[in-house]
Amino acid sequence: MIQIIGKEKCCGCGACVQICPKNAITMRADNEGFLYPVIDDKKCIKCGLCLKICPILNNQKQDFRPKVYVAKNKNTEVLKKSSSGGMFSILADYVLEQNGVVFGAAFNKNWEVYHRFIDKKEDLNILRRSKYVQSNTLETFKETKKFLEEDRQVLYTGTPCQIAGLKSFLNKEYDNLLTADIICHSVPSPGVWKEFLKQNYDVNKLVKIDFRDKKYGWDKSKLYFYFNDGKIEPQSKKMSLFRIGFGETIFCRPSCHKCYFKDSNRFSDFTIGDAWGYSYYAPEMFDRNGLSILFINTEKSEKLFNILKDDIVYKEVSFDTVIKYNPYYKTSVKPHIKREEFFGCWQKEQINKLIKELTYRPLWVRIYCKVKSMCKKILKI
Ligand SMILES: Cc1cc2nc3c(=O)[nH]c(=O)nc-3n(C[C@H](O)[C@H](O)[C@H](O)COP(=O)(O)OP(=O)(O)OC[C@H]3O[C@@H](n4cnc5c(N)ncnc54)[C@H](O)[C@@H]3O)c2cc1C
Ligand code: SF4
Ligand code: SF4
Ligand code: SF4
Repeated sequence: MIQIIGKEKCCGCGACVQICPKNAITMRADNEGFLYPVIDDKKCIKCGLCLKICPILNNQKQDFRPKVYVAKNKNTEVLKKSSSGGMFSILADYVLEQNGVVFGAAFNKNWEVYHRFIDKKEDLNILRRSKYVQSNTLETFKETKKFLEEDRQVLYTGTPCQIAGLKSFLNKEYDNLLTADIICHSVPSPGVWKEFLKQNYDVNKLVKIDFRDKKYGWDKSKLYFYFNDGKIEPQSKKMSLFRIGFGETIFCRPSCHKCYFKDSNRFSDFTIGDAWGYSYYAPEMFDRNGLSILFINTEKSEKLFNILKDDIVYKEVSFDTVIKYNPYYKTSVKPHIKREEFFGCWQKEQINKLIKELTYRPLWVRIYCKVKSMCKKILKI
């Protein structure tokens, strides 16, 4: 049976929980607020299935060179509702038109993030937009298998490790399955997210949370909280402290600092990300409503891209150039130097105060970074 030897060796995909024939495994939060599998010895029959399907313990290296496009959805309304260039919606629309089902990350009524499916176009907004919190896959691998065996077309979207977990769980190729992962910086702790919300807001009054609010444009998107009395937080252009903590990698999952699913070690048909660095390879395509980078990883996705391309504005670009400006396609994020300090006291202290204090940079460091990034832009490095 499965044993977590080092926390960086479990991405929390939930495949082991969903494969167990005896329901002997449950996901439980550790002292950092991340979920890990825990086995009930009394129920376990030592069949070894959980070990066999873990995508990290059985990591089969993939290696391929994808085609890459800068792309955006031709439908401006959909583009505005999406995190980057609305590529997820292009794929989802196609699958829903085939009477299929689409899986992705959503909020529940307590504003926790979890995976679910939708089968109607009018519900697409539930899955749109990046949620910068680890999503719980619950029973969605089992549900996917059921739909596939009923011959329904399925699109499953998520982080690269969730797609690896799903593929391993299914253990066979299905013609009616399409998968899309994201360029994945890392995922923050669901426990920290819950505590942050509790300490700062009246959760019952929240009507919308948008991690990628495009009020000031896609390339300047920010986290905003909307309330039922019309109030919006933060009230200025200020970056929310949760987004700062995420960007500074102070509360990300240990497996994200040594990610097994970077570069082309991916199991998805498509990879979607933000077209960061667009001004170097596609300045003419800039749109303040959003711009994606789309990786075509398989023959299946190449065929589908050809069917869908009339709904997309696109341009083929060089893989190496794009990766230069979106480093987390290839590289794992480094943990913040004060990560341990954060997790040593996050349950006792004010989260805002901790983020502020631990990520504080003196004025001269901030000026140095700003000048460095401006010089890079001017010199086009
Ligand atoms: C945690 C996280 C980190 C990211 N890091 C980067 C990065 O470093 N560089 C980069 O270029 N892009 C990153 N992205 C991807 C980017 O933010 C967009 O999600 C992506 O470009 C898709 O945009 P879209 O307009 O096509 O999709 P949208 O219509 O906005 O759809 C969002 C898609 O993301 C999925 N999703 C949302 N939240 C989660 C979640 N918590 N877990 C799993 N899946 C989720 C949904 O299921 C859906 O498929 C990240 C996304 C997330 C969720
Ligand atoms: S060994 Fe089999 S029964 Fe035991 S936890 Fe793993 S999958 Fe479940
Ligand atoms: S990586 Fe996934 S399958 Fe492996 S132990 Fe963790 S939750 Fe289970
Ligand atoms: S960085 Fe890697 S381990 Fe972390 S959520 Fe993304 S794919 Fe999973």
